[in-house]
This record gives sequence, structure tokens and C-alpha cells, in this order.
Amino acid sequence: MDNSITVRELYEYSQCPNFFKYKRINKLKSAQSVDELFEQALLSSIKASLMHLMSSGSISYKFLVSRWDRSWWDSKKTRNILKEEDMGKYATRAALYLKSFYSIYLEDDRFVPIAVNLPYALNFIYDDFNLNVKGHQDVLLIDTKTKKTKLIMICPQSRSMYLPGDYYYLNSYLAMHAYTSLDISKSGEEEIIIYSVFGEKEKYLEYDAAKIKKIEKEVYGMYAGILNKVYYPRSSSACSSCAYRLNCTGE
Ligand code: SF4
Repeated sequence: MDNSITVRELYEYSQCPNFFKYKRINKLKSAQSVDELFEQALLSSIKASLMHLMSSGSISYKFLVSRWDRSWWDSKKTRNILKEEDMGKYATRAALYLKSFYSIYLEDDRFVPIAVNLPYALNFIYDDFNLNVKGHQDVLLIDTKTKKTKLIMICPQSRSMYLPGDYYYLNSYLAMHAYTSLDISKSGEEEIIIYSVFGEKEKYLEYDAAKIKKIEKEVYGMYAGILNKVYYPRSSSACSSCAYRLNCTGE
């Protein structure tokens, strides 16, 4: 380890240290599920459309759908594992989510995207120990009506957005922490939103210095666990869909 870690890796360790070991240390290959491929295709089509909107100034629903088609139906991976009887189910879900995202953030020219996949890095210092935590911000928008900057986390799993310590929760706070130190945040008019493309309501997070301090401590604790090779299995309901369950003896 080089004293740096990504928010994704922290999330994996927090969910199950043994999973982290299989994936990040042993680098065991795992097959992707249809749902994982679906989430990836959905997010990449939304992000590609936002980038297009930033460069061209406008976007149609048709464009968003064409990006989705390219990421999903044209993908060899999808074609290899998607069963014919499931095609209609995923097509319906995609139409719902894309329409929802489009009508909230793309159709209304009140929201102007200024960055997609914005990387950030935070330097945590504990005693003499420096830890670099890296992540990325899904979308940064300006609300032209209120002039507020909004950080949008596109949450691929609606249920995860309410769980404390969850990746999106953690990432939101870390992103906000990073963001408040950027020059563009000087107005103090920022809002952070977790937006689920799966049709959940928006969830606003308020800046909470004490909470961020607590998260920093948790982050450091997790990193110390990784350095000390603490990789116990954490059995949970997630085991049933875990890509490494066949390798795992701790389930
Ligand atoms: S099966 Fe369960 S305990 Fe084992 S690695 Fe996966 S999540 Fe962890």
C-alpha cells in the first residue's frame, strides 16, 4: 500500500474485509451479474449524455436513449449473459430510469452541468501519518435559478442511499469535504444531493463538521486494518450475491 486508497476500496472493506482481500489483494476474477452490467450501462449512458450536454448546450431524450442502446444492447458482455425472457424486464426498467433522470435534470434548462466524473483527493493527517483518499464526483450542476452549485451522486442502488457508512454516504461527505476546499465553492451556496436513478427521492446532506471528523476516523481505522492484514469474512445478506461466495469459507 502506498498510503492512498479510493472511496470504492474503503466501501468494499467496510462491507466485508474478506471480499476486499479476494478482490484487491488476491485479485480473483469474478463474473459480473446482469444487474451489475445494467447499472454500469445506465450510468455510462447518463454520464456520456451529460458530457454531450456540456459540449453542445442541448440534449434530447432520443440522444440519451441512443447512448443507453449503445452501452447495453450493443455490448458483447450483455449479449453473452442476458436471457431472452429478461430482455423486456430490463428494457422497461431502463426506460423508467432514463425518463426520470431526463425529466428532472436534462429537460429543464435550469440545471447546467459543469463537470462529470470530477476526481478529487483528500489528504488526511493522523499524527505523522498521511493518507490520500481518492474518489470522484458524479456530476456538478449549477442551478441557474438559485445560483447554487449542486453535487449530484447518481446512486445505482436506491436502498444503499440511506445506510450510514455506505459508500455513497461516505463518498458524498468526502466529496463535499473536498469540494468546500475548492475555489469555486467560495459562495457557500452549495448543496449536496444523492439522486437515485432508480426513482427514489432526492436526499440532501447538510455539511456537518463533526460527522466528517467521525468519517475521517473510520477511514483511518479501515486503512489501519488493511495495513495490518485484517481480512475477516463479514457474513451478511450480501453473501448470497457475492461474486466470491464459492471461494469463501466464512459465509
Ligand atoms: S461470501 Fe460473504 S463473507 Fe464471503 S467474501 Fe463474500 S461477502 Fe464476504
